[in-house]
Amino acid sequence: MHTMSVAELSKALQEKQISSVELTQLYLDRITQQEELNAFITVNAEDAIAQAQAADTRRSKGDTTLFTGIPIAHKDIFCTKGMLTTCGSKMLANFVSPYDATVIERFNDSGAVTLGKTNMDEFAMGSSNETSYFNPVLNPWDRKAVPGGSSGGSAAAVAARLAPVATGTDTGGSIRQPAAFCGITGIKPSYGRVSRYGMIAFASSLDQGGPMTRSAEDAAMMLNVMCGFDPKDSTSLNEAVPDFTATLADPIDGMRIGLPKEYFGAGLNADVARVVDAVIEELKGLGAKLVEVELPNSTLAVPCYYVLAPAEASSNLSRFDGVRYGYRAQDYGDLADMYMKTRAEGFGTEVKRRIMTGTYALSAGYYDAYYLKAQKLRRLIADDFTRAFESCDAILGPTTPTTAFDLGSKTDDPVAMYLNDIYTIPANLAGLPGMSIPAGLGDDGRPVGVQLVGRYFDEARLLNIGHRFQQVTDWHNQIPLDQA
Ligand code: GLN
Repeated sequence: MHTMSVAELSKALQEKQISSVELTQLYLDRITQQEELNAFITVNAEDAIAQAQAADTRRSKGDTTLFTGIPIAHKDIFCTKGMLTTCGSKMLANFVSPYDATVIERFNDSGAVTLGKTNMDEFAMGSSNETSYFNPVLNPWDRKAVPGGSSGGSAAAVAARLAPVATGTDTGGSIRQPAAFCGITGIKPSYGRVSRYGMIAFASSLDQGGPMTRSAEDAAMMLNVMCGFDPKDSTSLNEAVPDFTATLADPIDGMRIGLPKEYFGAGLNADVARVVDAVIEELKGLGAKLVEVELPNSTLAVPCYYVLAPAEASSNLSRFDGVRYGYRAQDYGDLADMYMKTRAEGFGTEVKRRIMTGTYALSAGYYDAYYLKAQKLRRLIADDFTRAFESCDAILGPTTPTTAFDLGSKTDDPVAMYLNDIYTIPANLAGLPGMSIPAGLGDDGRPVGVQLVGRYFDEARLLNIGHRFQQVTDWHNQIPLDQA
């Protein structure tokens, strides 16, 4: 049962093969058995059963959605009413949110059951889940490896089938990179598709919530719940939301898929390249036409991102001052001392590094040289995509240059860590949808993900390509041997 898709689970619930209470208990038991993975910060055991009971009652009255009674895990960046919401930080280790994020509200309204809150890099800053105040998450495929970050807990939970599906957020790759490292499907929607209300802000112009699932089909079902205009988020777009499942099985013959030559150069591991090549052959077999495209400014995406994201973070994180909520230092003199000690004690090293870099980039003497320059680069990077999409309908490449690396291997080298997101960051800078699908294993037996980037609001096409690929391959059904 734990290996079933959302559609299958929904059918099993509908046909009364299992109740939501039984299903929820099954996943809660799996979470306990796999505690060592450290995928969850909070397990919502009691309340989940109560939610499942309510879902069973709702079903008996015939008032159901596809998600009624389906267990789900939420990244601990989404505010959940009455439940701990830590964002992976000591700063919020005691924070119980008084309200629900819009994403949470939408899943609650659909009758989904919250299994718990998943572990993550502190304030979503990281690529390995090692910056979490609540300790790293282990990769279920190989416990010596990182699960990726920042949505590492959600990725590990879905990969080990501790939850059928999970939510994640992606500022520079945090849905796609952990999805790739853990062998699951993850999609970052176009900027503005999914409400950011109640999603703790890291870099507001880049942050976007999205699904982390076994398959493209499950992701389409989740997007149907998550997407839509939200008056509570000023950057939410009032754009028609299609039924993402309607076009999943459409033929893709004649579709033009662009291969950016910059994504296949030095720095890409041979085993990852081999998997991407195999995907290209598979897509050709489905009738897609592969064309070469250029993204000449993509090599500048990492430095551009590491000016803009910290700049926005330095501003967003100024709210954590010990006054209104969260951590407050114990011993302090005056108010300024309280601020300083609270922030010095409450934030971890990576978060402090970002706040300092961001504050520097925004300071009067350096604003033009760094922040403004990076904004201009951002435009050039977005323009590259616009030009590329004149000759193709979607862009394909590796999600990450390597498979999951070993725990501890990059923690002392922030730049090496940052380079992990070289292929994922451009889509965030441009605001485009990007998806990673599991496509094979590297020489080390760890999963490899392949990325598709689409035009604005063209999530349905990415899901269509992903689904067609998953109809003829089996990578999305593979799970670590000990979880089978
Ligand atoms: N790894 C990137 C960073 O550290 C992206 C994180 C994210 O997408 N939240 O900023």
